[in-house]
Amino acid sequence: AASRLAGKTVLITGASSGIGRATAFEFANASNGDIKLILTARREATLVSIKEEIEKAYPKSKVFPIALDVSKLPAIDAFVDNLPEEAKDIDVLINNAGMVHGVDQVGSIAQSDIDIMFQTNVFGLIALTQKLLPLFKEKGKGDIVNIGSIAGREPYPGGAIYCATKAAVKSFTETLRKELIATRIRVIEVDPGQVETEFSVVRFRGDKGKADAVYKGVEPLIAEDIAEVIVFAVSRRENVVIADTLVFPSHQA
Ligand code: NDP
Repeated sequence: AASRLAGKTVLITGASSGIGRATAFEFANASNGDIKLILTARREATLVSIKEEIEKAYPKSKVFPIALDVSKLPAIDAFVDNLPEEAKDIDVLINNAGMVHGVDQVGSIAQSDIDIMFQTNVFGLIALTQKLLPLFKEKGKGDIVNIGSIAGREPYPGGAIYCATKAAVKSFTETLRKELIATRIRVIEVDPGQVETEFSVVRFRGDKGKADAVYKGVEPLIAEDIAEVIVFAVSRRENVVIADTLVFPSHQA
């Protein structure tokens, strides 16, 4: 698998935390450091410290920490257009940035929460994918990995908007895969179940006590579990598409 990843350039959104951060480390590890990683999120200082950590552990690797808010669509164009020359030739896009803000019944969901969830989880993912498609088509290959969720398959009360965003990701991903059929541009979806990250802290608007309570008495996945699945999918032979994977902790069904 290391040789299949060798020399690749991987762009990860939401790389400052949780699954995105773990995926950056897992790509470095699985390629024995023979990789370029473009790490994006809003928290640039965190990305810079992740760069330092990865480049120290894997001296052959090259990490580009670049601030990007995927909910701001014009920023996506500018980000791709202004990538450093040595990071322009992207092979793998990991659309991971995502969030849920609030647990509210439909009648009381704030418009601002609806906007931020759709802008981040759906519109940003679509815009970045559209922006990189011409490059992948020109190269005749590339990987697009979209992080969905069990929430996109099984909606739950209090999660109407988040669930709808992830259902949208699923539908978009499947359509794109069908449009690109018989090319070597692989479209891959990984849907996590419960993973302990900063996700729940954001969901409960920063209330760490409520976030921690979610994981009491159960054993959630850790971010590395999902990172391993993502890197496994990308490091298959080019003709192998791990199209759609649901990954649960053993207590969840
Ligand atoms: P975290 O909150 O730990 O990480 C989310 C990442 O997304 C952070 O790096 C954050 O960085 C980034 N992000 C959020 N908003 C934006 C934005 N507007 N622009 C750019 N980056 C943004 O959560 P997870 O690692 O758990 O989440 C990763 C993905 O996994 C999400 O798509 C989530 O929906 C999905 N998922 C998670 C599950 C779980 O149980 N944890 C279950 C199912 C799916 P920053 O704040 O620096 O911008």
